[in-house]
Amino acid sequence: MALPREYVSGETHFYLGRRHKLIVNESSAQPSEVKLLRGKLVVTLPVADRAAVRRRLNAWYDARADEYLSDKFSEISGRLNWVEAHPPLKLMRMRTQWGSCSPDGVIYLNPALIRAPRHCIEYVILHELCHLVEHNHSKRFFDLLTKQMPAWESAKRELDSLAELILAGHEPAFNRTVSQQ
Ligand SMILES: [Zn+2]
Repeated sequence: MALPREYVSGETHFYLGRRHKLIVNESSAQPSEVKLLRGKLVVTLPVADRAAVRRRLNAWYDARADEYLSDKFSEISGRLNWVEAHPPLKLMRMRTQWGSCSPDGVIYLNPALIRAPRHCIEYVILHELCHLVEHNHSKRFFDLLTKQMPAWESAKRELDSLAELILAGHEPAFNRTVSQQ
């Protein structure tokens, strides 16, 4: 059962599959920022009330998701022989899905994936890229996926077990859709 986020020091937040302890640092002498420091997420703000910490932290997650997920997507699509050009990628908040592939080949990834372990992210990206060939969950689809990632089932199980915790914990900083080309 995922508890509502409080955005106070001591609370844990997932980033790339690891729990990080949140440290809220109220200071007007230091620059406003979010930093990963020895396994801790340090948020420094001049006025660090919960709303401000929440906004700053979620904006940081969004920025990390934009960068990490689009880099990973380019890297993985670049090594698949059926992907000729860089397929269109959109990051879109979804309540229950990690990703999807539209019939015209646009791939959507949930930015909340930035909280999941790297191999789980890889699994979701590969799953969606395999849908460019097989727009279904047929045996041919799973054969293709297994060839690319033999251990996909354990990655899926791990992601499913984290789903409630991660999806509930990921709140939008702004209501928006990020498009990457
Ligand atoms: Zn699928």
